[in-house]
Amino acid sequence: MYVEDEAEAPVTQALADLLTEINEPTSNRSLLPTLLIQAFGPDNHILNADQQDAQEFYQILSSALGTECDQCQPSHISGLTDLLCMPPPSRVHTGEVRSPFIGLLASRLACTTCDYTEAIRHFTFDNLSCNIPSTYQATLGECLQDYVRLEPLEDARCRRCSLTATLTWLEERSQKPGLPKKVRREVEDRASRVRLALKTNPAMELPGIKMEPGRSRLSTKQSLIAQAPPSLCLHLARSTFSSYGHILKNNALVTFPATLDLAPYMTSGTLRTTARSTMSPPSSRPIRYRLTSVIVHYGSHEDGHYVAFRRGIHGDGATGEEVWWRVSDSRVDRVSLQQVLRENPYILFYERLPEDPKITSVTEALGGTWKEKFRDGTGIEEPAAVPAPPFLSNGHSLNGKPLEKEVDTGADTVADVDVIMDEALAFVVKEKGGREADQRVPEPPEKDPPMV
Ligand SMILES: [Zn+2]
Repeated sequence: MYVEDEAEAPVTQALADLLTEINEPTSNRSLLPTLLIQAFGPDNHILNADQQDAQEFYQILSSALGTECDQCQPSHISGLTDLLCMPPPSRVHTGEVRSPFIGLLASRLACTTCDYTEAIRHFTFDNLSCNIPSTYQATLGECLQDYVRLEPLEDARCRRCSLTATLTWLEERSQKPGLPKKVRREVEDRASRVRLALKTNPAMELPGIKMEPGRSRLSTKQSLIAQAPPSLCLHLARSTFSSYGHILKNNALVTFPATLDLAPYMTSGTLRTTARSTMSPPSSRPIRYRLTSVIVHYGSHEDGHYVAFRRGIHGDGATGEEVWWRVSDSRVDRVSLQQVLRENPYILFYERLPEDPKITSVTEALGGTWKEKFRDGTGIEEPAAVPAPPFLSNGHSLNGKPLEKEVDTGADTVADVDVIMDEALAFVVKEKGGREADQRVPEPPEKDPPMV
């Protein structure tokens, strides 16, 4: 992402500044995300002193990033034609302004009664909210498999079943004895138009014809990932209902890997419209991700406490040692990856890796740091690897200049949300150093909000 004017993207810039301060702290004091809160604007009523769910906050933040990305799109591009007419380097400089969390889902609704499938639709997503298929224990793979499974639906609307029901009704009506000639002709005309639609294009508009409600006895619905995002956010929906109708937290243990292959949950080059078969065979090409952050919720559905675990690198980004940090309020402790993998996650963040398995970091794949690449504005010409977003990288602003802005470390404002900020922002790829010095005795934790 390349932003020339900070004022165009205040939340993005404030987030980048905050992440830089987290990655390269200038003091051992706790950070408060005051500037980020202020960047949402004075009239913002979403972020207030009330406590919020970590996923809700993530969505507010992601939405703001997406809005600012849209606003940063160059105004001279009015459509696909303009974009295609631009030479490739220009596309990089001016056209690819997109939140790194944005991926694409392909969704299909198909009827098993008549085997009709409407067009496979595509939707963007910034996180996947997965159900936990077991109340005791599940793997992340099982949760993702459940997300993309072929789901049976009863009584769904079906265009072709509706057309068939309408044609039957019109044919019966046209046979009705004593019907005036003019009316009979009109009914037969309508019937022939419906017949044509059934034969050629069920989706065609049929003005003036009242459609019979056509319900499919059994349909199938399926969503698969069509385009993998550079940064993958996976939310585990832990709200469940007791037999008395009370909302409870589902404490089922979900185990998760340090590296994840998204290929089994993605479309490949072939899309199928057959209702009883999966929309697409799985991609044969691995789509590799590496764990970068885990947000854990301790407590009940009503209240509890969030703790974030985040990955970092000691030393140079390409050759440095991987470290993990446990962030709980103002306390930061170093932990091992094995300790992290024993936690029970609420939100997981993964970073996409280059396709070459010998390359284990995006920085390595690019042959340099993002700071160098973006400092001169040349960007990355072709995404041989899916690039990490600039603000997930090491110590530089979106315009490539080193960041010098101070982060307000005062303790007088937004106290209720800073914990959530710290933890919701824990997806940062920590390239250097850490907050080893920040080992103060923790303040009494605020009660965190209920789960969603
Ligand atoms: Zn049907």
